[in-house]
Amino acid sequence: MSIQLDTTAVEKMKSFHCETKCTWCDGCGDYGIWTAIKRALSELGYSPWQVLLCYDVGCHGNMSDKLNGYRFHGLHGRVLPFAAGAKLANMNVPVIAHGGDGASFSEGVGHLVHSIRSQYPVTFILHNNANYGLTTGQASSLTWQGQPMNTNPNGMAEQTLPSMDFVFSLQPTFVARGFSGNIPQMVEILKAAIQHRGFAFVDMLQACPTYNHFATHEYLLSKCYDANAEGHDVKDFEKARYLATHNADRIATGILYQNEDIPNFYERLVPRQGKKTQAVDEVEKVDISELMKEFI
Ligand code: SF4
Ligand code: MG
Repeated sequence: MSIQLDTTAVEKMKSFHCETKCTWCDGCGDYGIWTAIKRALSELGYSPWQVLLCYDVGCHGNMSDKLNGYRFHGLHGRVLPFAAGAKLANMNVPVIAHGGDGASFSEGVGHLVHSIRSQYPVTFILHNNANYGLTTGQASSLTWQGQPMNTNPNGMAEQTLPSMDFVFSLQPTFVARGFSGNIPQMVEILKAAIQHRGFAFVDMLQACPTYNHFATHEYLLSKCYDANAEGHDVKDFEKARYLATHNADRIATGILYQNEDIPNFYERLVPRQGKKTQAVDEVEKVDISELMKEFI
């Protein structure tokens, strides 16, 4: 059997690749996520000059050196306000924001709340390795309770934050979960997320073999299953919430919830209604010399 390759997509995929030396550890789940993003963007027909990639601080943030595109590497926990602002200035550009579980569910959690309730039309990829990898294995709010970490050798004392229950409590319009060991599924999730009308939350479970010795690649491989392949209806909000939050025996992955009927933030902005131009097209030089005289 011969495999038919889409040569245009393959060439596009190569154009996303940077030669900068990679600093991720051997076996890091970021390699798989990196590949899936390149494939998703290529298969959607995008070139690097057509996309904006925004990164938080963390191991995933080193992807800003490895993936071509317009790139912004922001402050810890603050990637979403920048990504939303950039998107609202030019709705023609797909914006992908990356954040880690540590920043996104600690100092950045307020931005996540308001991104979901505002329905900013941005794709958010949560690189969820259940620890702060860049700072060498600190417990995050998504580390399993009782799990020994470098900062908590006797086990993390605090309760693990129920992140998916929290996200569903905010009435999201797109929630998906992928696993860094399943590239074809991540590609399909990301393509749907990038084309989603509003805010797309993608919980990407990511193996961190160096510091996370509990949710390992092997563990995720044995627990994750494709809920879409089992007939899950992505319009069923309550079922999606149940699947996302009941992970003791099996972990549901795939597109869990999708609602394209809710207008996004831009569509609700009254001053933008009927405009043929993007906000970025309307920037012009303004003579403020008269105003400045007041301060001279
Ligand atoms: Fe990946 Fe973990 Fe190494 Fe960071 S510390 S590069 S998340 S394996
Ligand atoms: Mg992390």
